[in-house]
Amino acid sequence: MIEIPYGRQSIDSSDIAAVIEALGSDYITQGPAVVRFEDSVAGFTGARHAVAVSSATAALHLGALALGLKPGSRLWTVPNTFVASANCGLYCGAEVDFVDINPRTYNISIDHLSEKLEIASRSNKLPDVLVPVHFAGQPCEMSEVAALCVKYGIRIMEDASHAIGSEYKNTKIGACAYSDLTVFSFHPVKIVTTGEGGMLLTNDTAIYEKLLRLRSHGVTRDPRLMKKEPDGPWYYEQVELGFNYRMTDIQAALGASQINRLPDFLARRRELAARYEENLSSLPIVTPFQHRDTLSAWHLYVILMDQERSGVTRDSLFQGLRERSIFPQVHYIPVHTQPWYQELGFREGNFPASETYYRKALSLPMYYSLSNSHQDRVIEAINEILESKPRE
Ligand SMILES: *Cc1c(COP(=O)(O)O)cnc(C)c1O
Repeated sequence: MIEIPYGRQSIDSSDIAAVIEALGSDYITQGPAVVRFEDSVAGFTGARHAVAVSSATAALHLGALALGLKPGSRLWTVPNTFVASANCGLYCGAEVDFVDINPRTYNISIDHLSEKLEIASRSNKLPDVLVPVHFAGQPCEMSEVAALCVKYGIRIMEDASHAIGSEYKNTKIGACAYSDLTVFSFHPVKIVTTGEGGMLLTNDTAIYEKLLRLRSHGVTRDPRLMKKEPDGPWYYEQVELGFNYRMTDIQAALGASQINRLPDFLARRRELAARYEENLSSLPIVTPFQHRDTLSAWHLYVILMDQERSGVTRDSLFQGLRERSIFPQVHYIPVHTQPWYQELGFREGNFPASETYYRKALSLPMYYSLSNSHQDRVIEAINEILESKPRE
């Protein structure tokens, strides 16, 4: 039987032709294709500036630095995310803490955020940066997040690794309508891929210029930023400590080609989500709740196993699907339960909504090239497993 993964990239002949063209051009590292890719994503989202980098992890690191994070600063995110959303704070020497999730949206809980900010404000321990994560592609409640962050003077960096093409109150994620920065990931399992890659979007020109320098060693060729007189036309100056986080033109050519296909990607993912909802919502499981202000890009389709109603645990559903050559996934192991974070003092029980969610969650196959007949196989398998109620 053909194996069905939970996610996979879609590369077609137009993508391959774009990469071949880039390979034959004068540039293979960062060059004109990177600029074209940045322009296409900025154009798609409506953000003023875009900076392509080697991964979303690199993007989060540069974004945290550009927002001024340093030793002694604080960054907050949610436990229900990939470790990179939190690690970017540690890279800068900042302290990291978490805000628990809303059990319906699986995104940051506005109640918990508001309460935790009030307590932090009393003890002078407010975060400098908040990283809301648009989990599975469903945007966070950004008006409420932004209102709280404005009240307490906190910068916002959206981790939109799951959410290129998502919309919040009819604005595209990436437009930075409610934030200082937004980060996209182009890892192959995400909605658009460059093999490895990431991008930062911002409307702030000073942040944008800082990101351009940090992406490439902290070096500038702009005489206005230099401390010394240029020796000659070859002269450049390192004015801060940066990195080599550049994207190659080969990757960017693939990315720009994928952006042309993004409307098709989104339409198919939304169709698949609707088919799952139609076929699974009558079963004793929880299908994804969608907040009325949001339109998801559906990076993931996550169901929760309600053992009390179905008699089946998440683990036995996971196993049963595997036995039928269907390979679901679990997103996410709460970051604060990772050994590295336990070393920093976090404990099981610190963020109960994320922990309860984690025990029940299962990500079903969701990708552009998933056919209706393969999706039907997944739906039938779930029905079969729920009917047979395997022993726990
Ligand atoms: C994938 C992912 C990242 C990291 O992306 P890379 O491009 O692989 O570095 C960060 N945050 C979230 C929420 C992700 O899903």
